[in-house]
Amino acid sequence: MAAFGQCYNRRVPVFESRLLDLVTHNPAQTRQFGARIGRAIRAGDVICLSGELGAGKTTLASGIGEGWGAREVVNSPTFVFVNEYSRAAGGKLYHVDAYRLRDAADAESIALPDMLNEVSEGKSAILIEWSERVADQLPPERLWIDLLWVEESARRIQVAANGARHEALLEQIR
Ligand code: ADP
Ligand code: MG
Repeated sequence: MAAFGQCYNRRVPVFESRLLDLVTHNPAQTRQFGARIGRAIRAGDVICLSGELGAGKTTLASGIGEGWGAREVVNSPTFVFVNEYSRAAGGKLYHVDAYRLRDAADAESIALPDMLNEVSEGKSAILIEWSERVADQLPPERLWIDLLWVEESARRIQVAANGARHEALLEQIR
């Protein structure tokens, strides 16, 4: 019975293969983790970054852009709303800041539906900061990343995948 009890108490979540939960201890680690994601991104992928101001979304995004191979450094698009990146290997990566988007009309004003169409056609990939603000306008199949402030230099990063392609992406990142 003791052996059964130990087995029963092992902390193996049922959906382990679809979730990744880690803590970074400085911005460089967050950036490095982002680069891991960026290297695995393919056209058609939807990467959502959710979290409060200072949670590390832009730090992670800049690592993602670097790993993907963006020709320019991916900075916060807070005042630009949308940045479009290219790379030597070909392809396109949209980087959207949804902070100021309140409704579908706002999303349309920055052509978010058009970008998502392009992504669904496999022509480009998209990275969305403050994705929680436009969650209802995003496709259900996506990589959803929650960033949480733990302490001054520590951030918790929780990654959840929906759909076969994004689950495969998560496995590659792990
Ligand atoms: P957001 O885009 O979510 O507002 P930023 O990436 O712009 O967040 O800012 C995160 C801030 O937190 C930066 O000043 C960064 O230096 C700091 N920071 C401290 N520790 C970390 C960490 N482990 N990961 C990411 N950023 C961190
Ligand atoms: Mg930001």
